[in-house]
Amino acid sequence: MAFVVTSLCDGCKYTDCVTVCPCECFHEGETMLYIDPEPCIDCSACEPECPAEAIFHEDAVPQELRDDIELNAKMAAVTPLILSKKPPLAD
Ligand code: SF4
Ligand code: SF4
Repeated sequence: MAFVVTSLCDGCKYTDCVTVCPCECFHEGETMLYIDPEPCIDCSACEPECPAEAIFHEDAVPQELRDDIELNAKMAAVTPLILSKKPPLAD
């Protein structure tokens, strides 16, 4: 089990979520972040940090966003780790 960044994150990248993760789970894609489910310990620290409410436990991901569960695992494998907060995207 793991937490998942859903596509509600797309375009945000405030990256507040990244700074609280104790397990280096977050990876940075072009316009959104992904959580690697392997190191995620289900601590839930990231969930309340997201202003877009884009992070869910995988059991709680809304039906219309459930494709994002597999997407996180797939994209985390091919995108770089992000360990610190970055300036938000211009738009
Ligand atoms: S805080 Fe939320 S919306 Fe912003 S980058 Fe993190 S997961 Fe995405
Ligand atoms: S639930 Fe905890 S370990 Fe998993 S991504 Fe969020 S902060 Fe990291």
